[in-house]
Amino acid sequence: MRRMRLAPWMPALLLAGLASPSGHADVHSVPREPPAAAGEPMAQQPQATVAKQSAVNAVDRQAAELTALSDRVWAYAEIALREHRSAAALADHAERQGFRVQRGVAGMPTAFVATYGKGRPVIGVMGEYDALPGLSQKALPEKTPLVEGGAGHGCGHNLFGAASLGAAIAIKEQIEAGRLKGTVVFFGTPAEEDVGGKTYMVRDGLFRDVDAVLAWHPSDETQADMTSSQAMVDLAVEFRGKSAHAAYDPWNARSAVDGLELFLHGVNLMREHIRPSSRMHYTIVAGGQVPNVVPEYAKGWLWLRDWKRSEVDDLLARTRKLAEGAALMTGTAATVTVQGGNWETLLNEAGARLLQANLLWLGPAVFTEQEQAFARQVQRATGVPEKGMFTGVKPLEGQQAEGGSTDVGDVSWVVPTLHVSVATSPLGAPWHAWPVVASGGMSIGHKGMLRAAKVMAATMVDLYEQPETLAAVQSEFRTRKGDTTYVPYVPDGPPPLPKD
Ligand SMILES: [Zn+2]
Repeated sequence: MRRMRLAPWMPALLLAGLASPSGHADVHSVPREPPAAAGEPMAQQPQATVAKQSAVNAVDRQAAELTALSDRVWAYAEIALREHRSAAALADHAERQGFRVQRGVAGMPTAFVATYGKGRPVIGVMGEYDALPGLSQKALPEKTPLVEGGAGHGCGHNLFGAASLGAAIAIKEQIEAGRLKGTVVFFGTPAEEDVGGKTYMVRDGLFRDVDAVLAWHPSDETQADMTSSQAMVDLAVEFRGKSAHAAYDPWNARSAVDGLELFLHGVNLMREHIRPSSRMHYTIVAGGQVPNVVPEYAKGWLWLRDWKRSEVDDLLARTRKLAEGAALMTGTAATVTVQGGNWETLLNEAGARLLQANLLWLGPAVFTEQEQAFARQVQRATGVPEKGMFTGVKPLEGQQAEGGSTDVGDVSWVVPTLHVSVATSPLGAPWHAWPVVASGGMSIGHKGMLRAAKVMAATMVDLYEQPETLAAVQSEFRTRKGDTTYVPYVPDGPPPLPKD
């Protein structure tokens, strides 16, 4: 998932750490430049309860361990459904901390659930740990692969998993000490970048008994998220014809590639008659092998997206018609197979305001001059403005919509989901690219990771300690969901695990 937006700097009030923890950002007084960062922000708040302060302190105490865990996952750089060592590193760590760990859930060897405590409320936190192929990179401010052609954490999921587990452990310590009552669950969710492991975990009921769940994502900015993600459906469209010699007896043939070409032409004409919020993209996976054999098989791979799942369903129905029409015109047979997909994220403003209050309470991020110089060097190398690291907190209001889909969306339709983005990478530098890998393997990423762990831990404490706040989050969830029944896009049967 890509998370990147253009942002105004934060109001000076917030950067100075003076904002009320219970209020939200005043968006109206935006200075042109951020003031210089002062010393390390102290997590001090008169209203903070003992449990909240202890949970934040617990993250600080775990800093070295969480950093080491994140760096291990960064170095493993395992891609979707192959995250065996990464998942084991996180699951083993949770087990050592006293969590009950159930491995290999929802048919995926790299998915797991770690639970501590008993009774309600049950608050969950999700962690990801899959890397992206081809993005291997050293923790340096210029493009330098660590392993030529290898994978790399171009979406910062090494930080994602470690921070979320750190937050869960901070809560576990409060339950253990008797300061909080209830259950904390860490969801180890694989393959976000591919099949969307969470979608299978939702389908198989793993979130059924959870009262609220938190997630964060590495970003180039920091904010409690009030933007959704796109709903998306993943399709294989196959054409089957008849083969013959392309010059000697072509009348005996029906070209599957003709079918696919006409189908894709239809998709491209349809582009003019879809909503501005829709996106359609494809690749050609199979299209024959040599020109003198009329291809009997062709395959396209399409993603259809929109801000609303209902629109995606409409696009899907029209796409099926295009495939039928192309088959009819070419004397071939078409098959459309839904391989997976995501729902858009169901927002929760009550939850976002809680996260925002805790972000402000924690105060601005502080990066050293060397870290800012590293960020500017990355920005120079990638041709974006040399603004360094984002240190403020973006206001909730006026957040812009963004492209991209995530399996967090599916979770958000079955359990109230609170989502926050934390800056771990230079402002404006390309996402799913080497800068994210570079900064995620050094102190910039580590700081963001610990900050994410703290804001989630603090927010989880609120949900345990304030039944009325949790009730408000849940009530908003029910209102926004209305009478919609969640039906996953993923087909029945096990997830498509790698064969080797
Ligand atoms: Zn991601």
